[in-house]
Amino acid sequence: MAERVIPLVDARAVRPLPAAGARASGPTPADRLGRPLRDLRISVTDRCNFRCSYCMPKEVFDKRYAFLPHAALLSFEEVTRLARLFLQLGVRKLRLTGGEPLLRKDVERLVGMLAALRTVDGKPPDITLTTNGSLLARKARALKDAGLQRVTVSLDALDDAVFRRMNDVDFPVADVLQGIDAARAAGLGPIKVNMVVKRGTNDHEIVPLAEHFRGTGIVLRFIEFMDVGATNGWRMDEVLPSATVIERLQQVHPLAPLEAAAPGETAERWRYLDGGGEIGVISSVTRPFCRDCNRARLSTEGRLYLCLFASSGYDLRELLRGGADDARIADAIAAIWQQRDDRYSEQRQAMAADTGRGARRVEMHYIGG
Ligand code: SAM
Ligand code: SF4
Ligand code: SF4
Repeated sequence: MAERVIPLVDARAVRPLPAAGARASGPTPADRLGRPLRDLRISVTDRCNFRCSYCMPKEVFDKRYAFLPHAALLSFEEVTRLARLFLQLGVRKLRLTGGEPLLRKDVERLVGMLAALRTVDGKPPDITLTTNGSLLARKARALKDAGLQRVTVSLDALDDAVFRRMNDVDFPVADVLQGIDAARAAGLGPIKVNMVVKRGTNDHEIVPLAEHFRGTGIVLRFIEFMDVGATNGWRMDEVLPSATVIERLQQVHPLAPLEAAAPGETAERWRYLDGGGEIGVISSVTRPFCRDCNRARLSTEGRLYLCLFASSGYDLRELLRGGADDARIADAIAAIWQQRDDRYSEQRQAMAADTGRGARRVEMHYIGG
């Protein structure tokens, strides 16, 4: 059967690497908008066992969809080598993502390799992982033992029927909750839970989820439905602004804003006035935070993306497999970062609400969230 041509394949375009040039060692200078390089998100697989409609809709990611062959994926050794160079360039935080990162065979071995690395200041990197939680009950202990510090679990509803519909593979909410319990028991904390809010689909689950996690020490974060990729049929009228999320919660449990814990943090933090803990809102659509964006993304096949909404990436695998030495690769990464001027969400806000629809952007499951 002929393979279907879908926008996603076109969006995996490659940008030319900068020419080799001498660079002083140490952290890379800031990008063109003055933003340092601090955070590297590493996608370890483009596959997933869920089909969330806002990320990997079933109609597109079906049996005929060509996922990357194993040989195309960066090996753990390749990922670790790149991570080491990124840390030398100033990165402090590594986040494993995907697709579903726990589907990558022996991912805990990669965690162990990354945990042995050091930042430019000689400190252990902050290592975390974003997961749909489906395999967490089985994997939490091994991940912790390998050196993982924390996890973020995605959970879009507490109601089983709503959750099964949203993951679109009939996966039960109880199993994700069990995964969260296992992560907690293993000491993978503080745990964060991410809920993508789609107006009319799961916004009635905001308060039940908040009440479920209140007082547990787990921080629930509400994410605005974003126009990532080109396949999720994004519409502005399905975005529920974070301000509305806060209003709805305030009606039940009064909240007060908190200071950001770190510069470049994506979530705005709030605390329950009665001491029930903390929640967060990630307002990528209505209150973009590009100004402080210090994140780079490494795709499953070793392409470096400078923005979640980028349409092309830089092929670092070519350098790795072409025999480039560490200095050449570090120079290339530093030069790429220094040229960076991406600020898609701010630009989107300046455009008409839905002009971005159908654009050829890279898919979220490929470069990770
Ligand atoms: N499979 C893992 C998971 O779901 O946690 C990791 C990868 S997933 C791409 C990372 C995060 O991106 C998840 O929290 C997911 O909910 C979020 N995400 C995916 N598509 C999104 C969209 N269109 N808008 C907002 N968040 C999205
Ligand atoms: Fe899979 Fe995560 Fe995307 Fe859902 S959001 S389809 S769990 S990669
Ligand atoms: Fe960073 Fe791009 Fe998101 Fe702006 S739109 S915060 S530059 S990833």
